[in-house]
Amino acid sequence: MAETELPISNDSRDLEAIFAISAAAAQCNETDLALDEVIALARAVFVFDNVVLYLRRESTHLEPSYARAIGRGRSEEADLAWGEAIANQTIQSAQAVIREEINAEIPSQRMKQRYFLGLPLIVGDDSIGALIFVRYGNPAFAANQLPMANFIAAQIAQILERERLMLRLVILETERQVERLQDDFVSTISHELRTPLGFIKGYATTLLREDTVWDEATRREFLAIIDDESDRLRELIDNLLDSSRLQAGTLQMEFQPIRLDTLLRDMALRASSRHENIPVELDVGAQDVQVQADPTRLAQVFDNLFSNAAKYAAGSKVILSLSVEDSEAHITVRDFGPGIAPEHLGNIFTRFYRVPNPLTATRGTGLGLFICRRIIRTHGGEIAVESTPGQGTAFHIYLPRLSQTGEPLCPLES
Ligand code: ADP
Repeated sequence: MAETELPISNDSRDLEAIFAISAAAAQCNETDLALDEVIALARAVFVFDNVVLYLRRESTHLEPSYARAIGRGRSEEADLAWGEAIANQTIQSAQAVIREEINAEIPSQRMKQRYFLGLPLIVGDDSIGALIFVRYGNPAFAANQLPMANFIAAQIAQILERERLMLRLVILETERQVERLQDDFVSTISHELRTPLGFIKGYATTLLREDTVWDEATRREFLAIIDDESDRLRELIDNLLDSSRLQAGTLQMEFQPIRLDTLLRDMALRASSRHENIPVELDVGAQDVQVQADPTRLAQVFDNLFSNAAKYAAGSKVILSLSVEDSEAHITVRDFGPGIAPEHLGNIFTRFYRVPNPLTATRGTGLGLFICRRIIRTHGGEIAVESTPGQGTAFHIYLPRLSQTGEPLCPLES
């Protein structure tokens, strides 16, 4: 039978295989595909039934990282069990190992006559693993097959080494990117923290001066500035903490069924009392709209959007509206301020992104909208922006609705 015969040692056939195997190893970028191709090509010149690749993970631990059952006895699992012992022996000796397990009592059962060939995978001076071939039934692996087998093992070692280098490159690039982000982060944040701190320190030092007596009105004015700036500092630190917890996925949320129309009424009242420069209008058509939400976190989103409207669209009316669309609640926060230029719209939800504006020096960190999006997405919803320069900006929030009995509504049901 062809499967049990040794490959005919015909030079031109060997040369063709060598050429095809080295081309496959050099060209294919995906490790498993490259291994499949090399193994398939190897079979033209070198008969085996199964192949298993063991890689050294830590200094001693061996892990099967690739196995193919090609010929008879398609049982990779069984081969994985015995393979480790031969793989260890191969790695320790750093040489090819030929072994046979012959059951002399039942010579007619080929599956009980197993021939193994272990080849070390060497990169530089390191032995990174072992390649084990198995054949069921005669004839045994022979020493004259070793040059071809070692060649195949060397090609496989090269594929694995290339994968290792690619991974290393990706890690290095990620590390560099993280470093760059950290640098940007430190410079943005130190600037933002210094500003309120500068006010606090300045006004406190002024009040403490012993050569001046401040009248009561001035003293109160200075203390009010210190009070405001301390609030701002705390808000900044809270935002920083929230944003890193949201990024890491460790911000705790306490979900419960809530009535969105009621929450929005509260939000509009709070915004009106906090920001005198933006008259807030409420347009809640839908009643008793239920969603599963953390009310504190959802309120944080609206506080942020109103505070942005007060900063970037000062003097404009702001409309807060709620409607129901199929299984979703749709909330809009719309202002009629200067709007956002289209080239910035795609970035405003990115952490630390601020629209550059040389004319107004509005303070901020570029964290607000990033936090909003993360919170809304954690609620299974989405937030989007729509803006026309000179006409205003609308933030649309979509949240999955609950039925009256508190069940999630799927789009088909409504
Ligand atoms: P911050 O306000 O700290 O800069 P945000 O993430 O809240 O950060 O906002 C990102 C950017 O989006 C802001 O710098 C601002 O330029 C723009 N922006 C946000 N809301 C509005 C709005 N209502 N009108 C115009 N621009 C806005």
